[in-house]
Amino acid sequence: MSSFLHGHGGIEVVCGPMFSGKTEELIRRVKRAQIAKQRVQIFKPSIDVRYDETKVVSHSRQSIHSEPVESALEILSKLKDTTRIIAIDEVQFFDLEIINVVKKLADRGYRVICAGLDLDFRGVPFGPMPMLLAMADSVQKIQAICTVCGAPASRSQRLSDCEDDVLLGETDSYEARCRAHYFYEPKENELPPHAEQSQESTSLIN
Ligand code: ADP
Ligand code: MG
Repeated sequence: MSSFLHGHGGIEVVCGPMFSGKTEELIRRVKRAQIAKQRVQIFKPSIDVRYDETKVVSHSRQSIHSEPVESALEILSKLKDTTRIIAIDEVQFFDLEIINVVKKLADRGYRVICAGLDLDFRGVPFGPMPMLLAMADSVQKIQAICTVCGAPASRSQRLSDCEDDVLLGETDSYEARCRAHYFYEPKENELPPHAEQSQESTSLIN
């Protein structure tokens, strides 16, 4: 990877609940960059194999080629010399090192487009998202449509009673809901939402 580019690097974050169109928006930005003949690499966490192993696919079945990676650092090692733009879908699933990786890339002059869930199904900020949102140069927060009433929806309602922390977004497991139609019943002994967050996030940046 060359050390500095002369472009205007920056961090763009697209966030919102499931079905809000984050992946469509990421694909839209990538396609426009490709029209401008800028080299783009698209990454996704390898955990996300819902529709396809190597493609980023939206719920409306738009798709684009992507490189699945196991960790945030793998993005750096897979970067090609000609790449100017890096797009990362499902960025919330990455380890917290993604914050440093994204910052480094933007500082070096890359345009970094990140799409991810701002909140998990409990309504708690998701993994690295709070830091990415704060450090971003531009943020687009989009809403889906509430499956109950048709209002703008900012929450992802988990329907099944699965114990796993990461339940990948299949249509029958989650629905987009507005605040009024979203509910989450914390389990006994569960930390109150947000308590776990603040401990982690202060020592992350180097
Ligand atoms: P995200 O990446 O945010 O989960 P996608 O970009 O994959 O969303 O998909 C967005 C598309 O999902 C919409 O354009 C629409 O076709 C479809 N869709 C299905 N259910 C809903 C919903 N409840 N609200 C909005 N869009 C929905
Ligand atoms: Mg998506």
